[in-house]
Amino acid sequence: MTKIDPAAAPLFEMIDQSAMLKQVEDWAGINSGTANLDGLATMADRLADAFSALPGEIELVEPAAVTAIDAEGEEFAKQHGKHLVLRVRPDAERRFVLTGHMDTVFPADHSFQALTLTEEDIINGPGTADMKGGLAVMLHALLAFERSDAAAKVGYDVLINSDEETGSLSSRSLIEALAQAKAAALTYEPSALPDGTLAHARGGTGNYSLIVRGRSAHAGRNPQDGRNALVAAAALAVGLKDVQTQNCPVNPAKIEGGAANNVVPDIAVLRFNIRPREPSAGERFEAQLQELMGQVRQAHEVSVELHGGVTRPPKPVDGRAQKLFDIVHDCGRMLGQDIGWQSTGGVCDGNNIASCGVPVVDTMGVRGGKIHSSDEFMIVSSLRERAALSALVLQEIASGDRL
Ligand SMILES: [Zn+2]
Repeated sequence: MTKIDPAAAPLFEMIDQSAMLKQVEDWAGINSGTANLDGLATMADRLADAFSALPGEIELVEPAAVTAIDAEGEEFAKQHGKHLVLRVRPDAERRFVLTGHMDTVFPADHSFQALTLTEEDIINGPGTADMKGGLAVMLHALLAFERSDAAAKVGYDVLINSDEETGSLSSRSLIEALAQAKAAALTYEPSALPDGTLAHARGGTGNYSLIVRGRSAHAGRNPQDGRNALVAAAALAVGLKDVQTQNCPVNPAKIEGGAANNVVPDIAVLRFNIRPREPSAGERFEAQLQELMGQVRQAHEVSVELHGGVTRPPKPVDGRAQKLFDIVHDCGRMLGQDIGWQSTGGVCDGNNIASCGVPVVDTMGVRGGKIHSSDEFMIVSSLRERAALSALVLQEIASGDRL
């Protein structure tokens, strides 16, 4: 690490590292797995309390209705927690959106619940890097930014959703609404690598269920009357592998359903995931999927119903988004941080923001790693380091001279 520019030093000093650490310890001590509605409600209250240190109005927004398909092919409602929205100077002409998530991948009954200082400057704990540390970075960057002259000229919305780890299905419309007419977006996922490297372009993702209904019959007496849903689902799985391309890998993941050994099964549900690398690849796939469904319906005399779709569009980095990356890089240099980037196969809310045409850097959170595992860790000193970085980026983009 090189030296901090004297011009940026006061900003760095302004950020309260020990207050940040206390918040992360408090928040990571609360289980907020995406399905733990009580834990999420507690988190939302704590966050509302912490973010009330900023100007503006805080609102807890009801999640949008989301349905899924069970193993019998029936649709059911999925419950989600509320999402936190803070609106600061909504009448400002130039506004930003900053996003994070309060949920983690660890359910309430998971064995990984405690925080441990494993070595100096490293904390192991659920959600420390992904992304309760990132939420502290966002908050303290904004607190520092509010003390600068640049702040009064701009406004921003903060969104902290409760369902990012399962694809933001109940917050997607809110993300898209808040992204509208924003000059830039910052999202607080942890850095792509522990050295602070940012995630650059991202592929997209889509999750689907195909519900196949045939006709049951006795396997010995009248099998010719049956229409085997399981075999049709298998044909769909094989067909999906045939239509996949390098630009859109397809992963048939699971077939549920079936019946007893002496019964022709009348129900099967095929689950699969796609990873479109560019928007047109997803559209091409959807057209081929419709064709494949038609072929299987005809050949197997079954009904095939589709549920799901692309939930995270691919995130290419266009010219304006690249400008934002360059600004982050330059601000890093002022703070003695050498920040690079690399493309990744992972997805996050940055995908959805980018699809609204808003330039976004989506790994502005802490440095850390091994996320989604019991080895998840956060580098403690990166709290202040990354908060200073974000505060400086906000000052830099406030004027609109460079972006
Ligand atoms: Zn995350």
